[in-house]
Amino acid sequence: MTILYTLYNNSYIDIRHIQNKKDVSLYINLTNRCPCACTFCLRQTKEMMKDNSLWLETEPTVQEVINELSRYDLTLFKECVFCGFGEPTERLDDLLTIAAHLKQTCPYLPVRINTNGLANLMYATDITPRLKGIIDIISISLNAPSAKEYLELTRSRFGMASFEGMLDFAVKCKSYVPVVAVTIVDIIGEEKIRQCQEIADQLGLSLRVRPFEE
Ligand code: SF4
Repeated sequence: MTILYTLYNNSYIDIRHIQNKKDVSLYINLTNRCPCACTFCLRQTKEMMKDNSLWLETEPTVQEVINELSRYDLTLFKECVFCGFGEPTERLDDLLTIAAHLKQTCPYLPVRINTNGLANLMYATDITPRLKGIIDIISISLNAPSAKEYLELTRSRFGMASFEGMLDFAVKCKSYVPVVAVTIVDIIGEEKIRQCQEIADQLGLSLRVRPFEE
Protein backbone atom coordinates (compact mmCIF):
# COMPACT_ATOMS: atom_id res chain seq x y z
CA MET A 1 0.00 0.00 0.00
CA THR A 2 1.40 3.37 -1.01
CA ILE A 3 0.63 5.99 1.63
CA LEU A 4 3.33 8.54 0.81
CA TYR A 5 4.38 9.18 -2.76
CA THR A 6 5.62 11.78 -5.17
CA LEU A 7 5.32 12.50 -8.88
CA TYR A 8 8.30 11.44 -10.95
CA ASN A 9 8.56 11.43 -14.76
CA ASN A 10 4.78 11.92 -15.08
CA SER A 11 4.09 8.94 -12.85
CA TYR A 12 3.57 8.09 -9.19
CA ILE A 13 6.39 6.69 -7.14
CA ASP A 14 6.41 5.55 -3.54
CA ILE A 15 8.49 8.05 -1.55
CA ARG A 16 10.53 5.11 -0.19
CA HIS A 17 12.04 4.71 -3.66
CA ILE A 18 13.23 8.31 -3.95
CA GLN A 19 16.86 8.65 -2.91
CA ASN A 20 17.21 12.43 -2.80
CA LYS A 21 14.18 13.91 -1.08
CA LYS A 22 15.37 17.50 -1.10
CA ASP A 23 12.73 19.86 -2.56
CA VAL A 24 10.46 16.96 -3.47
CA SER A 25 6.69 17.33 -2.99
CA LEU A 26 5.45 14.73 -0.54
CA TYR A 27 1.93 13.47 -1.32
CA ILE A 28 -0.33 11.77 1.22
CA ASN A 29 -2.76 9.20 -0.15
CA LEU A 30 -5.71 8.90 2.26
CA THR A 31 -8.66 7.49 0.36
CA ASN A 32 -10.16 6.29 -2.91
CA ARG A 33 -13.58 7.69 -2.02
CA CYS A 34 -15.06 10.65 -3.86
CA PRO A 35 -18.53 12.13 -4.43
CA CYS A 36 -17.68 12.61 -8.11
CA ALA A 37 -17.09 10.26 -11.00
CA CYS A 38 -15.18 12.55 -13.35
CA THR A 39 -15.07 11.36 -16.93
CA PHE A 40 -11.29 11.90 -17.02
CA CYS A 41 -10.50 10.36 -13.63
CA LEU A 42 -8.20 7.36 -13.40
CA ARG A 43 -10.60 5.93 -10.81
CA GLN A 44 -12.99 5.19 -13.66
CA THR A 45 -10.59 2.76 -15.25
CA LYS A 46 -11.07 -0.56 -13.50
CA GLU A 47 -7.73 -1.87 -14.78
CA MET A 48 -5.99 1.16 -13.35
CA MET A 49 -7.75 0.62 -10.03
CA LYS A 50 -6.39 -2.90 -9.71
CA ASP A 51 -2.93 -2.27 -11.09
CA ASN A 52 -2.00 1.15 -9.87
CA SER A 53 -0.28 1.16 -6.53
CA LEU A 54 -2.14 4.30 -5.45
CA TRP A 55 -5.36 2.31 -5.22
CA LEU A 56 -5.89 1.59 -1.52
CA GLU A 57 -7.35 -1.77 -0.54
CA THR A 58 -7.81 -0.34 2.95
CA GLU A 59 -7.44 3.26 4.04
CA PRO A 60 -4.41 3.96 6.24
CA THR A 61 -5.22 5.01 9.80
CA VAL A 62 -4.05 8.37 11.10
CA GLN A 63 -1.43 6.55 13.17
CA GLU A 64 -0.18 4.64 10.12
CA VAL A 65 0.24 7.89 8.20
CA ILE A 66 2.03 9.54 11.13
CA ASN A 67 4.29 6.50 11.47
CA GLU A 68 5.17 6.73 7.78
CA LEU A 69 5.87 10.47 8.07
CA SER A 70 8.16 9.85 11.04
CA ARG A 71 10.52 7.86 8.81
CA TYR A 72 11.66 11.03 7.04
CA ASP A 73 13.32 14.35 7.73
CA LEU A 74 10.31 16.48 6.79
CA THR A 75 12.39 19.65 6.55
CA LEU A 76 13.87 18.32 3.29
CA PHE A 77 10.57 18.33 1.41
CA LYS A 78 9.27 21.26 -0.62
CA GLU A 79 5.67 20.80 0.53
CA CYS A 80 3.23 18.22 1.73
CA VAL A 81 0.10 17.61 -0.37
CA PHE A 82 -3.09 15.73 0.49
CA CYS A 83 -3.98 14.16 -2.83
CA GLY A 84 -4.55 10.61 -4.05
CA PHE A 85 -6.94 8.52 -6.10
CA GLY A 86 -9.92 9.98 -4.24
CA GLU A 87 -11.08 13.17 -2.59
CA PRO A 88 -8.96 13.80 0.52
CA THR A 89 -11.70 15.76 2.33
CA GLU A 90 -13.75 12.54 2.43
CA ARG A 91 -11.58 11.99 5.51
CA LEU A 92 -11.67 15.54 6.76
CA ASP A 93 -11.18 14.83 10.48
CA ASP A 94 -8.23 12.53 9.78
CA LEU A 95 -6.76 14.92 7.22
CA LEU A 96 -6.87 17.81 9.71
CA THR A 97 -5.38 15.67 12.48
CA ILE A 98 -2.46 14.75 10.22
CA ALA A 99 -2.07 18.35 8.99
CA ALA A 100 -2.00 19.61 12.59
CA HIS A 101 0.65 17.00 13.37
CA LEU A 102 2.71 18.24 10.41
CA LYS A 103 2.42 21.84 11.59
CA GLN A 104 3.53 20.82 15.05
CA THR A 105 6.51 18.73 13.93
CA CYS A 106 7.61 20.81 10.95
CA PRO A 107 6.03 24.30 11.12
CA TYR A 108 7.67 25.66 7.96
CA LEU A 109 6.62 22.83 5.66
CA PRO A 110 3.80 24.18 3.47
CA VAL A 111 0.70 21.97 3.64
CA ARG A 112 -1.60 21.84 0.63
CA ILE A 113 -4.89 20.14 -0.17
CA ASN A 114 -5.82 19.28 -3.74
CA THR A 115 -9.59 19.05 -3.68
CA ASN A 116 -12.77 19.06 -5.72
CA GLY A 117 -14.04 21.80 -3.40
CA LEU A 118 -17.26 19.98 -2.52
CA ALA A 119 -16.53 19.51 1.19
CA ASN A 120 -19.20 21.99 2.31
CA LEU A 121 -21.78 20.03 0.33
CA MET A 122 -20.44 16.72 1.62
CA TYR A 123 -20.74 17.80 5.26
CA ALA A 124 -23.73 20.13 4.79
CA THR A 125 -21.90 22.80 6.76
CA ASP A 126 -19.12 25.33 6.24
CA ILE A 127 -15.94 23.45 7.09
CA THR A 128 -13.54 26.18 5.92
CA PRO A 129 -12.89 27.70 9.39
CA ARG A 130 -11.37 24.35 10.36
CA LEU A 131 -8.58 24.87 7.81
CA LYS A 132 -7.22 27.94 9.58
CA GLY A 133 -3.64 27.70 10.80
CA ILE A 134 -2.98 24.20 9.47
CA ILE A 135 -3.58 24.40 5.73
CA ASP A 136 -1.38 26.84 3.79
CA ILE A 137 -2.52 26.22 0.22
CA ILE A 138 -5.74 24.88 -1.24
CA SER A 139 -6.02 23.97 -4.89
CA ILE A 140 -9.60 23.50 -6.08
CA SER A 141 -10.63 21.92 -9.38
CA LEU A 142 -12.79 24.42 -11.25
CA ASN A 143 -12.92 22.12 -14.29
CA ALA A 144 -15.39 24.12 -16.39
CA PRO A 145 -16.95 27.59 -16.78
CA SER A 146 -20.60 26.61 -16.15
CA ALA A 147 -22.69 24.44 -13.84
CA LYS A 148 -23.90 22.30 -16.74
CA GLU A 149 -20.44 21.61 -18.17
CA TYR A 150 -19.06 21.04 -14.67
CA LEU A 151 -21.71 18.41 -13.94
CA GLU A 152 -21.22 16.70 -17.30
CA LEU A 153 -17.52 16.35 -16.51
CA THR A 154 -17.62 15.51 -12.80
CA ARG A 155 -20.93 13.62 -12.54
CA SER A 156 -20.99 14.86 -8.94
CA ARG A 157 -23.61 13.28 -6.70
CA PHE A 158 -24.70 16.78 -5.66
CA GLY A 159 -26.03 17.50 -9.14
CA MET A 160 -26.46 21.02 -10.47
CA ALA A 161 -25.76 22.56 -7.06
CA SER A 162 -22.16 21.32 -7.26
CA PHE A 163 -20.63 24.15 -9.31
CA GLU A 164 -22.01 26.97 -7.14
CA GLY A 165 -21.18 24.96 -4.02
CA MET A 166 -17.58 24.55 -5.17
CA LEU A 167 -17.21 28.26 -6.01
CA ASP A 168 -18.73 29.28 -2.68
CA PHE A 169 -16.30 26.94 -0.91
CA ALA A 170 -13.37 28.53 -2.77
CA VAL A 171 -14.44 32.04 -1.77
CA LYS A 172 -14.96 31.01 1.87
CA CYS A 173 -11.48 29.42 1.94
CA LYS A 174 -9.95 32.86 1.33
CA SER A 175 -10.74 33.85 4.93
CA TYR A 176 -8.79 30.93 6.39
CA VAL A 177 -6.19 29.68 3.90
CA PRO A 178 -3.31 31.94 2.78
CA VAL A 179 -3.22 30.68 -0.82
CA VAL A 180 -6.40 29.64 -2.64
CA ALA A 181 -6.25 28.68 -6.31
CA VAL A 182 -8.76 27.21 -8.72
CA THR A 183 -7.41 24.98 -11.46
CA ILE A 184 -8.35 23.87 -14.95
CA VAL A 185 -6.57 21.78 -17.54
CA ASP A 186 -5.42 23.37 -20.77
CA ILE A 187 -7.29 20.96 -23.07
CA ILE A 188 -10.63 22.66 -22.39
CA GLY A 189 -9.62 25.24 -25.02
CA GLU A 190 -8.94 28.96 -25.14
CA GLU A 191 -12.54 30.15 -24.98
CA LYS A 192 -13.38 28.13 -21.87
CA ILE A 193 -10.09 29.11 -20.27
CA ARG A 194 -11.06 32.76 -20.85
CA GLN A 195 -14.50 32.18 -19.28
CA CYS A 196 -12.90 30.45 -16.28
CA GLN A 197 -10.49 33.36 -15.91
CA GLU A 198 -13.47 35.73 -15.81
CA ILE A 199 -15.13 33.70 -13.07
CA ALA A 200 -11.90 33.60 -11.08
CA ASP A 201 -11.40 37.35 -11.48
CA GLN A 202 -14.97 38.11 -10.40
CA LEU A 203 -14.52 36.03 -7.26
CA GLY A 204 -11.00 37.26 -6.51
CA LEU A 205 -9.47 33.80 -6.97
CA SER A 206 -6.24 32.97 -8.73
CA LEU A 207 -6.57 30.58 -11.66
CA ARG A 208 -3.95 28.00 -12.52
CA VAL A 209 -4.05 26.36 -15.93
CA ARG A 210 -2.44 22.91 -15.72
CA PRO A 211 -1.14 20.93 -18.68
CA PHE A 212 -3.30 17.88 -19.35
CA GLU A 213 -1.52 14.60 -18.63
CA GLU A 214 -2.85 11.39 -20.17
S1 SF4 B 1 -12.97 14.76 -8.07
FE1 SF4 B 1 -10.88 14.00 -8.42
S2 SF4 B 1 -10.83 11.97 -7.43
FE2 SF4 B 1 -13.00 12.56 -7.65
S3 SF4 B 1 -13.64 11.59 -9.55
FE3 SF4 B 1 -12.99 13.70 -10.02
S4 SF4 B 1 -10.82 13.57 -10.60
FE4 SF4 B 1 -11.39 11.64 -9.59
